[in-house]
Amino acid sequence: MDLKSGYPFWAIKNGLLTPFPQLRRDHHCEVVIIGGGITGALIADELSRHGHHVVVVERRDVGWGSSAASTALLQYEIDTHMVHLAELYGEANAVMAYRACAEAILSLESIAAELGDVAFERHQSLYFASNGDDVAALKAELALRKKYGFDVTWLGHHEVLADYGFEAPGAILSELAASVDPYRMAYQLFDKVVARGGEVYDRTQVNRMQQNERGIELLLANGATLSCQQVVVAAGYEAQSWLPAPVAANRSSYAFVTDPLPTEALGKLRHTLVWESARPYLYLRSTQDGRLLVGGDDDDEDIPQRRDARVVEKAQGLAAKVEALWPSLEINPTFSWGGTFAETEDGLPYFGPHEALGPRVHFAMAYGGNGITYSLIGAGLLRALIEGKDHPLAALFSFQRQGK
Ligand SMILES: Cc1cc2nc3c(=O)[nH]c(=O)nc-3n(C[C@H](O)[C@H](O)[C@H](O)COP(=O)(O)OP(=O)(O)OC[C@H]3O[C@@H](n4cnc5c(N)ncnc54)[C@H](O)[C@@H]3O)c2cc1C
Repeated sequence: MDLKSGYPFWAIKNGLLTPFPQLRRDHHCEVVIIGGGITGALIADELSRHGHHVVVVERRDVGWGSSAASTALLQYEIDTHMVHLAELYGEANAVMAYRACAEAILSLESIAAELGDVAFERHQSLYFASNGDDVAALKAELALRKKYGFDVTWLGHHEVLADYGFEAPGAILSELAASVDPYRMAYQLFDKVVARGGEVYDRTQVNRMQQNERGIELLLANGATLSCQQVVVAAGYEAQSWLPAPVAANRSSYAFVTDPLPTEALGKLRHTLVWESARPYLYLRSTQDGRLLVGGDDDDEDIPQRRDARVVEKAQGLAAKVEALWPSLEINPTFSWGGTFAETEDGLPYFGPHEALGPRVHFAMAYGGNGITYSLIGAGLLRALIEGKDHPLAALFSFQRQGK
């Protein structure tokens, strides 16, 4: 499957940062991670930091899957409202999921500070009502988040207009949000993993898995065999091909980046992530050099050629939407692209073993709009499972989760 189209901004901006070798010989280790995106990178970092010997295998170049196409808004706000999650799984579980995402932003900030230049920036997040009918649902969401101590404020029509320069019936302003360069972060994490004695290989594809009494054997496309005790499948949206039946729907999202805009024209948008209550939603953020990164207009297209053919038209539509909201901004899409992502029905990810593959194969399916915060949570969760320990989110993020 082709995961993106056009030129993904992060790969163009950064180029190929570290050339990793191919694995061409038979080899063995404790844990193999299939997939060299941001999820594989955060998991490899967590495991190698705690003394595990990891080997990461990536069939493309590292970071060239969905991670290079991501707009990388870091939000604790899950696509599914906390109110709705509470209806599905109970209030305690909904709050636990939201709190874990909030803590994940702080953990990503610490990791970014350790790594150096990965363009991590703190922002606020503005979730606006796309129309008057959505105001009541957003106010209920605000009340539940406030009840559990989330730092949120309601902005009415006049405040949104005065502070952010666009018309909306109202919005939830969250204090905690951030943005990052996910491609750069993945490369720098893998450099650290290698410095700790871990191994990272790209252009190395896993074709098959076989289990025996000693562990697992992975058969590579080039004919070599990789043996290990445990496997993490961090293969992004392609991870579903290892399961007997899909657990999420593949969708396409479209994005573009503008030329740098004057700081005074961006105003508060420079430090605010913006998204909306309509589905599919428009989402946007700025970059450190003052560009606007805009995404949305998701559809259920998962045939790469058909998705690619829509990129220019989708970017024009998104640009028109942004210009309608902020008529004073000159929106000129410099690069545009599309990428595949997957959406679970409840907006939650899947981390852990699946009954079809047994307890040694752990899936890391950080699916949904805030996939990167999920990846960070998954790193800690999977380390706990690999070490035979409990994790508070193991049940809720498992394939066995059940509604109340
Ligand atoms: C347009 C767009 C916008 C997005 N915006 C946001 C956002 O604002 N915020 C956010 O948090 N998330 C966002 N996401 C989602 C986010 O990008 C993903 O959650 C994240 O990149 C997934 O990372 P990953 O490492 O799991 O997957 P990937 O980056 O796809 O990495 C998986 C890797 O596995 C490799 N692989 C697959 N099969 C094999 C195999 N058999 N052998 C070896 N290697 C294999 C692939 O080549 C790939 O590189 C967005 C996604 C898209 C497409």
